[in-house]
Amino acid sequence: MLALTGCAEEKHTQAFFAMDTYMTMDAWGENAETALSRAGERVEEIEREISVTDAGSDLSALNGAGGEPVRVRADTLEILKTAGEVSEASGGALSLTLLPAARAWGFSGGGEYRIPSPAELSDLRAKVDDSKITVSGDFVTIPEGFGLDFGAVGKGFASDAALEVLKDEGVQSAVLNLGGNVRTLGQKDGGGAWEVAVKNPFEPSRTLGILSVGECAVVTSGNYERYFEGEDGQIYGHILDPKTCAPARSGLASVTAVAENGLLADALSTALFVLGEDGALEYARQNGGFEMLLVTDAGEILLTPGLVFENRSELPVKVVKP
Ligand code: AMP
Ligand code: MG
Repeated sequence: MLALTGCAEEKHTQAFFAMDTYMTMDAWGENAETALSRAGERVEEIEREISVTDAGSDLSALNGAGGEPVRVRADTLEILKTAGEVSEASGGALSLTLLPAARAWGFSGGGEYRIPSPAELSDLRAKVDDSKITVSGDFVTIPEGFGLDFGAVGKGFASDAALEVLKDEGVQSAVLNLGGNVRTLGQKDGGGAWEVAVKNPFEPSRTLGILSVGECAVVTSGNYERYFEGEDGQIYGHILDPKTCAPARSGLASVTAVAENGLLADALSTALFVLGEDGALEYARQNGGFEMLLVTDAGEILLTPGLVFENRSELPVKVVKP
């Protein structure tokens, strides 16, 4: 697809379906079309490596290894390293070993949505513990009965990897949207900031507002993306609190993390959602290196001071300093 922007260069777009989601990539410049198709292939390669359903993936090998070490690819090691740092720094709010719990709720593996019993949840908690992942060289081991899932970080990593391919191909200006994981390169064609729309978590078809950003990653996590209504009339969302193995109820409707790369922003959006407002601010105080936009269940938008945000909703905005 080709569109003329009226600016200096032609815009090229590639749209495809991967990692269970719709993806679009826009790039400007001479070699953009070839570059985009290579970047798309790279995303598909990562999907084959880290999918929990593809039999040839590193994660399928690990999850079926019965506690034995498995040699994994460089991409898997990189994800384990960065996500592992966020997992540790967040006190386990981000957990890569949540697969058994996600399966029990029906959020993973194509099963029916269901509410596990308290006894089942207690058994599951014994199988969710990232400190039991061991990495030695390029071998990884997880205990028997554990399951690794990169659902919280894979798209962010893929956005970085796709961007690297575009850069290697000489592209200087691009914006990728991998199922809500936005990654920008350089400046918007013609100069100026990128405008990234944030969804209203209470009405996801509507825009909450627009973030103006430079080269970075903008990633949103929210339960509106995937949830079910239980027989008890309650809403159960897909982001789980690893401490309870049940859907996180932290008082937040959505979290948008803005960071220098996609893997970090994706890991943060999920971790901060679990931590809630106070926990997220405390995390920012301790670790820094990112900006965030929180929408509380009570309907307030909280922004850290480094963000430029144009509110397009009725919800009140408050700037919060970590
Ligand atoms: P995201 O949309 O990036 O917040 O990722 C959510 C996905 O990550 C879910 O659909 C699950 O597959 C998985 N997940 C849910 N809760 C967590 C958690 N606390 N830590 C890590 N992964 C999670
Ligand atoms: Mg995430």
